[in-house]
Amino acid sequence: MTVTAEQLETEVQQIGRELAEAFPAASRHPMRALDARAMELASSDRELRAALFRFVDVVPACRSLDDLARHLTGFLQEVPQTPPPISAAMRIGHTKAGRTALGVAAAGGVRHMAHRFIVGETPRAALGVLRGLWDRGVASSVDLLGEATVTAAEADTYARRCLDAAEELARATEGWPARPVLERDGSGALARTNVSVKVSALTPLLRPDAPDLGRRDAAERLRPLLRRARELRAHIHIDMESLDSREAVLELVLDVLSEPEFAEGPSAGIVVQAYLRDSPEQLESILNWAAAGPRTPPLQIRLVKGAYWDHELVQARQHGWPAPVFEIKADCDRNFEALTRRLIEARPSVRVAIASHNLRSVAHAIAVSRLHGGADEDLELQVLRGLGDELQDALASKGFRVRTYCPVGDLVAGMAYLVRRLLENTSNESFLHEQARGISLEKLLAAP
Ligand SMILES: Cc1cc2nc3c(=O)[nH]c(=O)nc-3n(C[C@H](O)[C@H](O)[C@H](O)COP(=O)(O)OP(=O)(O)OC[C@H]3O[C@@H](n4cnc5c(N)ncnc54)[C@H](O)[C@@H]3O)c2cc1C
Repeated sequence: MTVTAEQLETEVQQIGRELAEAFPAASRHPMRALDARAMELASSDRELRAALFRFVDVVPACRSLDDLARHLTGFLQEVPQTPPPISAAMRIGHTKAGRTALGVAAAGGVRHMAHRFIVGETPRAALGVLRGLWDRGVASSVDLLGEATVTAAEADTYARRCLDAAEELARATEGWPARPVLERDGSGALARTNVSVKVSALTPLLRPDAPDLGRRDAAERLRPLLRRARELRAHIHIDMESLDSREAVLELVLDVLSEPEFAEGPSAGIVVQAYLRDSPEQLESILNWAAAGPRTPPLQIRLVKGAYWDHELVQARQHGWPAPVFEIKADCDRNFEALTRRLIEARPSVRVAIASHNLRSVAHAIAVSRLHGGADEDLELQVLRGLGDELQDALASKGFRVRTYCPVGDLVAGMAYLVRRLLENTSNESFLHEQARGISLEKLLAAP
């Protein structure tokens, strides 16, 4: 069916408006309003942002509240012009009693912020939140946070934690009530248990100069995980990290999934990052792989923009390389829409998951899917816990299948994650930041 640009745009605008109306009222989330104020403060001043990020980094290493407050006031002193609420905090920090009070508040603030993004210290502790989401019509994918893996023993531990999480979740989710939207699409049953896995944590040997070594080492830990996932009917999703590991990750996953023993499961998925200039070619090669040897269930492709944008730019500049990522946000957004279309056309040889908090990107995916004659059940929408909560509720209330990516781990392990999410949330060009600044819906939904 040929779809004109006008038809598509009309549909995008309508879906976007319907979803915006279904967003929960801000008044129902008083803490969110506070968070938004803190984020606004952080994003309005580069130096303050940098100071806060450095502070969040040292929190796990602080031994006392006094210590914590000393760091906070120390970092804030580096900010040339501090906003009034922060100057007040710094004055309190000059006395021991004041520092203790400030320390309590700062520790509480960091913990509160972390709990917004992290669902529990262990999979078991997270079960209550995961079940609450399910009851509200939201599926989840659990991500086990961990520090960088530098030894084989750490990689073994991470693989074991992934396996244990799959077991724990499979046991618990068995008794959950039926949620047909979350459990079936046109290709068949969908797993209730869904675990996201990082290859850099499955091997200490993932290095761009010796990709084969890392790939072989990670494969040894990935195979047992896939075998057990198949028995448990769990889905394993391999996250994508920075560009220097992309080829190794892709080859690892596609090679292992091509092995005869995995031809019929488990359900598995990979990620394509639309901020990479060469992502269209990369997607084509994955689609060729999927078309050449159809798997049951089909490979799921999660389309994201990409979480390592600053890192990729800095890396390229340091080496004098051309930037591998788009440098203009609208170029990245347009590429995301082009890849969305390509993915949707490729169904049913792949399952499609669109992971974004950008209302325009999400409405566009729904519109393209519908105009191509697809059923809503054949499109999965994904958000991050803590960043996409409102969109998640709006999508679930409209009957879409939405999956929330839920990190599990302690505060120490969560710090790198937390900082990445804070950076993402307070970057000036981010959709969430524009939305929080009160930009009109018309502008938010405009074609990139
Ligand atoms: C369920 C889920 C799973 C995820 N898994 C992964 C994963 O495996 N690997 C991964 O890398 N990320 C992953 N992400 C993170 C994802 O990449 C970011 O959340 C996403 O980029 C934010 O995009 P957005 O559409 O929500 O917001 P938007 O605000 O529309 O886009 C922000 C993004 O645009 C890009 N960008 C920002 N400024 C510019 C610029 N000047 N020029 C060009 N591009 C720019 C960056 O990618 C930035 O993150 C995941 C996200 C979700 C929701």
